[in-house]
Amino acid sequence: MMFRKLQDRWNTQVNNKPLFRIALPSLLAALFLSGCSFLHTPVARPFVAHLAHVYMPVSKPMPLTKAQLKRIRPNEDGMVMILEYHNILPVSRSPYTSTVQQFRNDLNTLYKLNYRPVSMSDYLNNRIALPAGKSPVVLTFDDADASQYRMLPDGKTDPSCAVGVLEAFHSLHPDWALRGTFFIVPGYAFGNRDQRAEKLQSLLKMGFELGNHTITHPQLSHLSNQRVQWELAECAAQIKALAPSARVNTLALPYGVAPRDRALELHGKWGKLVYHNRIVLLAGADPAPAVIDRRFKPQEVPRVQPVPGVCGLDFWLHFFRNHPSRRYVSDGDADTTTLPRSLAHHILKARLNGSKLVLY
Ligand SMILES: [Zn+2]
Repeated sequence: MMFRKLQDRWNTQVNNKPLFRIALPSLLAALFLSGCSFLHTPVARPFVAHLAHVYMPVSKPMPLTKAQLKRIRPNEDGMVMILEYHNILPVSRSPYTSTVQQFRNDLNTLYKLNYRPVSMSDYLNNRIALPAGKSPVVLTFDDADASQYRMLPDGKTDPSCAVGVLEAFHSLHPDWALRGTFFIVPGYAFGNRDQRAEKLQSLLKMGFELGNHTITHPQLSHLSNQRVQWELAECAAQIKALAPSARVNTLALPYGVAPRDRALELHGKWGKLVYHNRIVLLAGADPAPAVIDRRFKPQEVPRVQPVPGVCGLDFWLHFFRNHPSRRYVSDGDADTTTLPRSLAHHILKARLNGSKLVLY
């Protein structure tokens, strides 16, 4: 019943947007079927450290002392929340809308709980550079909705769009860096076609990244292999045409629905256009494993939706409060990977990517 109501509201909202023919049932099914699987995986021994004590990194951080390790309990094999935002609007209109105030509240809550944003690249490269004791969060924004990045007539960023909220938060909290990935539907990007290049380029300058979200936002499972490759190759090419310094190597599946030939998620070509994706993001509903963890699967990287209820952001924040040993906690040095010795069998050393392994 609840789903029916949500679906009705959502369908009403999107009726005038043929580009986004929403398949809410399949998305919800994918979300709940895939959801919360990490609840059943083995845990590290719990720690009792208080995360309020952190150590700001200097140019080359000193290795943590035994006492610091005991207090901070770094775990760079812990889980990372990749948050999945869509529209950021004054009032909520669908399950895919956060209000501007909710978005601000999310940032405040994450900040107070010692989460800090990192780029998708740093996460994938196993090079998370946060002060010791902090936990990474990766922000993602799908669909390039106008509410994510809007400009005022004087050319300044609208403070009530997602980018404006992030800029204001960064001014207030300089240790909250401007990091995140916008998954772009290029023809539509942020509502105003004339401003697409300017906006995509300024996002890159600010420190954000751009990802592939296809040309027409289809359910890829309904398409031929040729059409899937056109959607992905053309999207990457159009983003690069608008913002030449973009590296488009991540894919957020529209509706979380995969193509029939899963290999085409990662590599493919259309005519002379080729694309390569390092990871494929799902639509829900768990935190993601660290990339060094054996459970990390590049084609099935889950995200957390900032929605109420089971498997939403509050659910997972509560989970990590109760199970702090499951949370990724930084050791303060991007070039070392520190974790409890009891978790060593969870990791694949080949994925350390040159980072030095420290067990304690
Ligand atoms: Zn989408």
